[in-house]
Amino acid sequence: MQKTLMVLSFGLLMASCTKKAVVSSSQSSNGSSYQYSVNLTKVDNDKLEVTLINPKIDTDEITFRLPKTVPGTYSTDDYGRYLSDFKAFDSKGNQLTANKLDVNSYTIKDAKKLHKISYKIDDTWDSPEIKGTKIFEPTGSDIVANKEYSINTHCFLGYFDGMKQVPYQVTFTKPNGFYGATSMVAKSSTATTDVFEMNNYMDLVDAPILYTQPDTTVLKIGGADILVSVYSPNKMANSKEIAANINTLLNAQKEYLGGKLPIKKYAFLIVLSDSKTMTSFGALEHSYSSFYYLPEGTSEALSQTVKDVASHEFFHIVTPLNIHSEEIGNFDYNNPKMSKHLWMYEGLTEYAAGHMQAKYELITLSKYLDMLRQKITTMKSMKDNLPFTEMSANVLDKYKNQYINVYNKGALIGLCLDIKLRQLSGGKYGTQNLMQDLSKTYGKTVSFKDDELFDKITTLTYPEIRQFFATYVEGKEPLPLTDILQSVGIEYTAEATMKQASLGGIAIGFNQSTNRLKVANIDKVNDFGKAMGYKANDELVSINGQAMEMMSIQAIMNEYSANTKEGETVTVEVARKSAEGKEEIIKLSAPAILVETKQKNVLRLTENPTAEQLKLRNFWLKP
Ligand SMILES: [Zn+2]
Repeated sequence: MQKTLMVLSFGLLMASCTKKAVVSSSQSSNGSSYQYSVNLTKVDNDKLEVTLINPKIDTDEITFRLPKTVPGTYSTDDYGRYLSDFKAFDSKGNQLTANKLDVNSYTIKDAKKLHKISYKIDDTWDSPEIKGTKIFEPTGSDIVANKEYSINTHCFLGYFDGMKQVPYQVTFTKPNGFYGATSMVAKSSTATTDVFEMNNYMDLVDAPILYTQPDTTVLKIGGADILVSVYSPNKMANSKEIAANINTLLNAQKEYLGGKLPIKKYAFLIVLSDSKTMTSFGALEHSYSSFYYLPEGTSEALSQTVKDVASHEFFHIVTPLNIHSEEIGNFDYNNPKMSKHLWMYEGLTEYAAGHMQAKYELITLSKYLDMLRQKITTMKSMKDNLPFTEMSANVLDKYKNQYINVYNKGALIGLCLDIKLRQLSGGKYGTQNLMQDLSKTYGKTVSFKDDELFDKITTLTYPEIRQFFATYVEGKEPLPLTDILQSVGIEYTAEATMKQASLGGIAIGFNQSTNRLKVANIDKVNDFGKAMGYKANDELVSINGQAMEMMSIQAIMNEYSANTKEGETVTVEVARKSAEGKEEIIKLSAPAILVETKQKNVLRLTENPTAEQLKLRNFWLKP
């Protein structure tokens, strides 16, 4: 999973069938699989009806469940909250007694007679009337009749206790012209229906589907077909442009993983949202796909975010999907136990997503250092003395507010481990090799025991690595960033004064209806701000010709303050209302001035690095 809260670093909080029954209802004996059907053309009050012709039940009583949580989310979501009108029937259409056991579960009496179940499902994205924690969109569902149906299968389809291993058949009736983008290959498909078959519940939950008017592009990389499917409500971005953006990235990932991809088909399902009340965005990984929920913007403005999130999700094909503990391998959807190893599942994945981009020069070293710097800053704002293994094992309850640190401290643990391994191996062995070795040792169907992983890694590597885990991952010590970074010729300073280009000392606000930054007031403008001639309520449209779109603001601001030189002409376009209330675009321009600012967690290349530092840096950063 990759979740980003919509907070910019300058302190601005942004809103962020009736299917033709597969088994005829007069049939008296049930078969050996779940036979589900959902008719997307019959949306009633934002809900869809789900019917299930159940597999044969051999017990007097059976419990049907929707999950409490699903793999990759590390949160308690109670998908049963969105279910209503639960009904159970025998083959003659008589209703059987069904009692609600808890928020996610229903117990059916006289279960040997059970033939059919039906219920309604509301979507999670826009059901504010349903109480409890809001579900992170990439793991939820959205029903917008005849426009978009975001179907994470676990939101709609459940299982019977003890029967997760039984095969599933799911039939969707779809609006004319609609396409269901997914990693699954349809068993059969017509203009109005798609039928999917999966071996068990785990595989079904692992395969979300996005139904829209088709906007898809297929890339061929490393022997795999990569489907990119995009829904952009205002047609600001499209699959062709986004696929072009991630093509180079995926090729670099293939190299990073040793030249081959361990998959045949993979699907990127991307929903862009024009919601004004967005509070977070991101994605959820699956074995052969990933589902994205991002603010709508042009493909160009979304480019870096898509790259960062897509590379993270795509690397999950390594872990936890091919390297995981028993807690994850045999997932209990309604009584989940968490593994201690989020530092690896999420941390190493996030580390690889950034490291790969620097290694294959998709981003500059200075940009990579900036990424690391943001992670250090976030890590320091969290509970840095909480052992990471303890946080991980208790992430569903006690430490859920520390979860976001997996992308920060988790990734920095990966950084330290990688450089340490390079140091110990004379440059030959790093986390990339380690993950390949662990994939060979375990794999998709073999789980490790939570308590054995650190020892296993130590056996594969060096005794010093056991000490590293004991001190910094199981222990409370802060990561040895200064020493580790120094060994590759990077200086880490907790606080430094630097000269940076000023935007004029204006107070910055945000206009939610236009999605633009605005000048909140000009009480403290400096000489540059005066020369520019800002007025209160001016809205920032572009800086030096770069459009300030929501998803690119942060990168443009960072680049402006770090790279603008003293005296260079700065041009800012603002939208300003005339006396008659008409909006005009005005160009403001003045020579730049640099001002001294205090910066936290500064990373700089050492001025005169030793040969040894340079050698290790190259082992770490050169392909
Ligand atoms: Zn993740």
